[in-house]
Amino acid sequence: MPIYEFKCKDCGEVFEELILGNNEEDIVCHKCRSKEVEKLMSTVAFKCEGSFRGSKGSVCASCKGGNCSSCG
Ligand SMILES: [Zn+2]
Repeated sequence: MPIYEFKCKDCGEVFEELILGNNEEDIVCHKCRSKEVEKLMSTVAFKCEGSFRGSKGSVCASCKGGNCSSCG
């Protein structure tokens, strides 16, 4: 499934969103509802969600990488 990670530019919240079609412009922060979000190119993040979550969404604690290509 096309799950992407987004980061809110306002509060720094990192969250995942299932993208269906072209609804990227409708994505809002899950925490503060801001539309100032940027897409993080980490579509495989959900594979190692547990360790990925606790590290500000940038580096996986399991594989020490940003894309988890060798993780999970
Ligand atoms: Zn936010």
